[in-house]
Amino acid sequence: MRVFNFAAGPATLPLPVLEQASREMTDWQGSGMSVMEISHRSKAFVAVVEQAEQDLRELMRIPSNYKVLFLQGGATGQFTAIPLNLSAPGAVVDYLNTGTWSQKAITEARRYCTVNVVADEAASRYSTVPAAGSWTVSPGATYVHYTPNETIGGVEFNYVPDTGSVPLVADMSSTILSRPIDVSRFGLIYAGAQKNIGPSGLVLVIVREDLLGRARPQTPPIWDYAVMAREGSMLNTPPTFGIYIAGLIFEWLKREGGLEVIGERNRRKAALLYDFIDASGYYRSPVARNARSWMNVPFTIPDPALEKMFCSEALAAGLANLEGHRLVGGMRASIYNAMPLQGVEALIAFMRDFQQRHR
Ligand SMILES: *Cc1c(COP(=O)(O)O)cnc(C)c1O
Repeated sequence: MRVFNFAAGPATLPLPVLEQASREMTDWQGSGMSVMEISHRSKAFVAVVEQAEQDLRELMRIPSNYKVLFLQGGATGQFTAIPLNLSAPGAVVDYLNTGTWSQKAITEARRYCTVNVVADEAASRYSTVPAAGSWTVSPGATYVHYTPNETIGGVEFNYVPDTGSVPLVADMSSTILSRPIDVSRFGLIYAGAQKNIGPSGLVLVIVREDLLGRARPQTPPIWDYAVMAREGSMLNTPPTFGIYIAGLIFEWLKREGGLEVIGERNRRKAALLYDFIDASGYYRSPVARNARSWMNVPFTIPDPALEKMFCSEALAAGLANLEGHRLVGGMRASIYNAMPLQGVEALIAFMRDFQQRHR
């Protein structure tokens, strides 16, 4: 029996995609082989990559002056690849610190650049985002990096920072494809796949063409955007199965009606859950109202000693992986694109029942 899986990542995938992959597992497109067993340079597989890119471009309305790269090493690899590709030694770069993932990106960038942390939400214990206009880009900054959605803290920007002519770099790992965005506002967008794109092992980079060709000489070629753009993301063997599944997910998103429809569905799912939490008089969201994530919803109960019981009873009711991150405790429901409204409704019904029994 399938459960509703609220894991933060690797996360739930759309059932129709899993079913299609399962049907095609041993004999893909009449080849007598699985897609994992064919050459990445074969015509058939190159067509998979090209279709996936085309569908993604359509879904996100990616302008033609942006490259789409399918890379490896996760979003964590990009913490290194970004300073190496976009900055010269000694460059000044700006980072916004809104939680765990921005901190990891900052730590890595400090190995290569002078990092200015231009906004830091420590005072709110990372339950807020900096207000637009409350911070400014440093003079001479090479780029500005931020994390639109902090997966662990459940904190999300409700605006796209305006950095003028300084390229804006965004770690969209846990928010990409969750709603329409204006790609032209960004110099570079990156996202590990295992939240809203597909299986782990794949990281997506969308980069404006004028930012290519500035990599430092010691940049590993597999992370050099210009090299990978020239090679169609196939300097070496790419994660073929991950790209195939991502392609099926892009097709699924198109069938569902695209990002406008998905975005509206995500907005409703999140509103339903937050409204229930706020009205319950029992559960609590630790995140400021104007910074609440549509994708990752942390919440607490009055008696932390009951958290274990909450999660195990939820699992028995078919609601899996509601434990909060080990760094912050409490509970967390990740409700990515593939989590249906019925999953959120089932969670709320369980939460209501638990509250009645334990208040
Ligand atoms: C999951 C996550 C990462 C790390 O991704 P890996 O693919 O494991 O390197 C980085 N940033 C954000 C916002 C994430 O959610």
